[in-house]
Amino acid sequence: MAEELKIGGKIVNPGESQEILLKIGEFYTAQPVNIPVIVVRGLEEGPRVFLTAAIHGDELNGVEIVRTIMIELDPARLKGTVLCTPVLNRWGFLNHSRYLPGRRDLNRYFPGDPQGNLAHRVAHKIFSEIVQRAEYGIDMHTAGVGRTNLAHIRGDLANDSIRRMAKAFGTELIMDQPASGGTLRAAATRAGIPTIILEAGETFRFQRGMVARGVAGVRNVLSDLGMISHKGKEPRFQVIVKVAEWIRAERGGILDIRVRPGDLLYEGSDVGTVSTPFGREVTALKSPLTGLVIGITTIPLVQPGDAICHIAKLEKTLHTVEKYCITEPDGRKHLDLEEAGI
Ligand SMILES: [Zn+2]
Repeated sequence: MAEELKIGGKIVNPGESQEILLKIGEFYTAQPVNIPVIVVRGLEEGPRVFLTAAIHGDELNGVEIVRTIMIELDPARLKGTVLCTPVLNRWGFLNHSRYLPGRRDLNRYFPGDPQGNLAHRVAHKIFSEIVQRAEYGIDMHTAGVGRTNLAHIRGDLANDSIRRMAKAFGTELIMDQPASGGTLRAAATRAGIPTIILEAGETFRFQRGMVARGVAGVRNVLSDLGMISHKGKEPRFQVIVKVAEWIRAERGGILDIRVRPGDLLYEGSDVGTVSTPFGREVTALKSPLTGLVIGITTIPLVQPGDAICHIAKLEKTLHTVEKYCITEPDGRKHLDLEEAGI
């Protein structure tokens, strides 16, 4: 007898795919705030995996990644269950915003509290109805508004299952970061549900290259867990990085940034300039370390302290990365990746 799987009060039987509207709150009109959950349960038992996106309501690449996967999954051929939640933060999604009402960041309130504030209650509902029904998780993000990220995986690689999922996903860069605080990733991992996040691209867009990388990565993980048969492309190389630093503006002004995600910078490399509206240069920005650009601001206006460029520190793996870079005519080095452009 197969174990009963019930989500939002609905039973999902082996061999079924169900579209469930999970109630996570109520609008001022007293009508339910539902989020779509698509549960695909294979005929054969196997691992249970959750896929979540738009926990930050303006981060849309993951929405398309989850939709693509949920449409192609076939319960007749799937081994195990995939819980697909393409839009977690319904309020933010409707309002073109990262946040819940009251500017609360949903990804700081996990595992939630059924007696707490709105964010706690929503987090609790998602955690108890989706996350805790699964054994593994992948949560999809982009950079925050006004920034863009190189596609990469983040996870706490001290956890063997997370290390395996992160490597199987197949991005060239993996950030090894312990999970802390009230993020979905941290709470799920603490609860014994190894979870990784994908960071890819920027808000308010379906970036096709990023979506394709994400879809391929999710397929790779499902295949590695033995849930689907899929022959993915091996990554040409993989580097694991523990330390990343932000270059911040020292002075306010107009920013001319000369790097993009995927650029390889050496200590002292030129990153850009900040100048006055009259065109006089006030700061020349140089990289304080050797590493790979994993995120940049997309807004050419800065005030002191604003984050400009996020660099993943490379040490032993520098030579590996150098091998896979193209050298531009001006001597700059850039990873040979289609999706790195913005
Ligand atoms: Zn996010």
